Amino acid sequence: MKLLKYISIFALTSFILVSVLTRVPAVQDRLMLRFAQTLGSTTADLNDNSLSAVVCGSRSPLPSPGRAQTCILVNAGGNYYVVDIGDGSAANLGNWRIDTNKIRATLLTHLHSDHISDLADLHLMTWVNTSHTKPMDVYGPEGVELVTQGFEDAYQLDYQYRYEHHGKEIAPKDIAGFNTFTIDLSNPVIIDEDDLKVTAFKVTHEPVDPALGFRFDYKGRSIVISGDTIYDENVIKYAKDADVLFHEAQANHQLDIMRKALESNKGLVTILNDIETYHTTPIEAAKVANLANVGHVFFYHLTPAPRNNLTERMFFRGVNDIRKEWSSTKDGTMVILPLDSDEIIITDIN
Ligand SMILES: [Zn+2]
Ligand SMILES: [Zn+2]
Repeated sequence: MKLLKYISIFALTSFILVSVLTRVPAVQDRLMLRFAQTLGSTTADLNDNSLSAVVCGSRSPLPSPGRAQTCILVNAGGNYYVVDIGDGSAANLGNWRIDTNKIRATLLTHLHSDHISDLADLHLMTWVNTSHTKPMDVYGPEGVELVTQGFEDAYQLDYQYRYEHHGKEIAPKDIAGFNTFTIDLSNPVIIDEDDLKVTAFKVTHEPVDPALGFRFDYKGRSIVISGDTIYDENVIKYAKDADVLFHEAQANHQLDIMRKALESNKGLVTILNDIETYHTTPIEAAKVANLANVGHVFFYHLTPAPRNNLTERMFFRGVNDIRKEWSSTKDGTMVILPLDSDEIIITDIN
């Protein structure tokens, strides 16, 4: 009883002390300095001896707190590739202190807003105060030129202001903007450098056409990203024997319930109806992973992205009956494939 009393007094005194001290300017300055010292550093988690990936956005357009729209950062031995850059994902990369000097290119699976909307913020992070010496390479399907040109037009004044304000060393105007590459599927290997081969393949996401997936092969390890697609044999073909498949997933059984609940909102009901026909259910995606014989499947671009354990359990209902090697993702889910090994390490960058 006495011990409890001492603990309570200690806790109360500590609380009062912290409350008082954090109001003292000198203490605030000291704490701010400590925090600021961490800002200059970059995260050490993406090591050079692996093919690895971090989910920088795990949701689709349907909102879900704590999740950004679609984004996967792939690290091939210290060279980074950003696959899709939806709303909120650039902030994730910033918060995790990803070394943007290492970003070699951005790859867009298709041109829906939830895959492109943070392109301007990513541009800023790879342009101002970096070691880059050329505009950012952006690869995407037919129409990508329209997107990059549109961003360049909209941000023309931003480029000018920052250049005038910070000077050419910090904000070199001649490398502002994008180097755009339209992917031609008759030459599907879009990147072949530094032991990395990136292959684009077509998926089905009508009326979006073309919509693409990407396969990364690096020193014997492989990661495949489905992009937005219905169940598609082409994903099975291109994901064949890959270590890891990131597959989009949409729980139609949850959308059915949402539709019932939202009956009075005719517009939303129509949207929920429309989207059921152009995504893949978790069970279908698990079957794709089995047929492709992948080591592990990660579900991303979750619709509706789970908000708690209950909705997550419900989202993946039946998946365990299909296969065991699977994981849901949230923002920060990271997979590391060490070189010269079969190991698949699943962790979190946060
Ligand atoms: Zn999408
Ligand atoms: Zn889409």
